[in-house]
Amino acid sequence: MMRDTIVIHCSATRVGHDVTAAVIDAWHRDRGFWSIGYHYVICLDGSIEAGRDVTLDGAHCMGWNARSIGICYVGGLNEAGQPCDTRTQPQKEALHKLVDALCLTFPSVKQVIGHRDASPDADGNGVITPNEFLKSCPCFDVKNEFIITK
Ligand SMILES: [Zn+2]
Repeated sequence: MMRDTIVIHCSATRVGHDVTAAVIDAWHRDRGFWSIGYHYVICLDGSIEAGRDVTLDGAHCMGWNARSIGICYVGGLNEAGQPCDTRTQPQKEALHKLVDALCLTFPSVKQVIGHRDASPDADGNGVITPNEFLKSCPCFDVKNEFIITK
């Protein structure tokens, strides 16, 4: 399957609370998936953990799984439990390093989006605007931060 998109997620966990790919794997199995739905998890210290094998379709973004690679950074909620870009500096660096590496490995990748950017275009104007976001994941403007030029 041709993967043309990278979709960024957050784990929707509170700032400072670290979870591993193994923990997310257990959550997803509890929800009835056969394994973790993401291909990669980025922990608070910037370490990149493997999730589902990248050669297999993920289970992270309805309608996009067959064409995308799913990356989840740990965090996404502030201390009050509100959506927030909680990425640590090591997480930001690891995310950019991983996206760059995936773009080289998968020349078919044309865009990097946030989960919320995959919301339906309710008014049909071709742009997914914040009022149309069904969820806030991953709590930052992915399209503005990751611009692929090739
Ligand atoms: Zn998500």
